Amino acid sequence: MTDSSTTPMVLADGVSKSFGSNEVLKSISLSVNQGEVLCIVGPSGSGKSTFLRCINHLERVDAGRLSVDGQLVGYRQHGDKLYELKPKEASKQRREIGMVFQRFNLFPHMTALENVMEAPMRVKGIPKSQAAARAQELLARVGLGTKGDHYPAHLSGGQQQRVAIARALAMDPKLMLFDEPTSALDPELVGEVLDVMKGLAASGMTMIVVTHEMGFAREVADELVFMDGGVVVESGDPREVLANPQHQRTQAFLSKVL
Ligand code: ADP
Ligand code: MG
Repeated sequence: MTDSSTTPMVLADGVSKSFGSNEVLKSISLSVNQGEVLCIVGPSGSGKSTFLRCINHLERVDAGRLSVDGQLVGYRQHGDKLYELKPKEASKQRREIGMVFQRFNLFPHMTALENVMEAPMRVKGIPKSQAAARAQELLARVGLGTKGDHYPAHLSGGQQQRVAIARALAMDPKLMLFDEPTSALDPELVGEVLDVMKGLAASGMTMIVVTHEMGFAREVADELVFMDGGVVVESGDPREVLANPQHQRTQAFLSKVL
């Protein structure tokens, strides 16, 4: 029997993934409870993005189990058999997950408001006036209530990234994935994006955040995972891991970024 109050929002059990002979994820196991924030840190090439992409149906896992809110990602279980979801079922599952990338990927020919309205209208069939009202609310929530009619080119990188967050929230996701959301920003714009993410965490959103912002991890994350070479090297309370890393590889990485 599953109990929704104890089912983790994300559960990875022995998740593995190769590209050709390159084994990028080597039996990753972790879980994120509802309302928790997990930060993943680690050197470039360690498999962080691939892991997020597996959760978001952008890559398929080769082995192990990955579930979101108790449902296997991309599969349905019947007895002891697994059936691959049909594209329509898979996209329905994927719709419940919001993702924010390093590059903001806004539609350049649409205003900020139109960017946020687009998916609810196209995917969910929400009427235009209702989508616009909700988009306006979400823009206000990310501090851009007066910028709805601006095109991306006329917004700063930090503002564009906040629109990207509002756009993801417009689909009412139960899980938000962030892949180095501040890495492409000028340093003075990082704080405004992190503040929006902190607010989101405080509102109870379940989040997985790949980041090099250790201050954010220390302050906001419930758990910190250090990945290297496709494995979870160590994990735990962020304050503990950052202050007292147990593994030499974690120590070496942190000495470079802290
Ligand atoms: P990180 O996000 O930690 O920097 P990635 O998940 O992007 O790491 O990449 C991990 C490894 O997987 C790298 O060696 C990368 O070259 C490889 N990789 C990622 N995506 C692909 C792909 N689509 N095809 C082939 N190799 C890939
Ligand atoms: Mg990456």
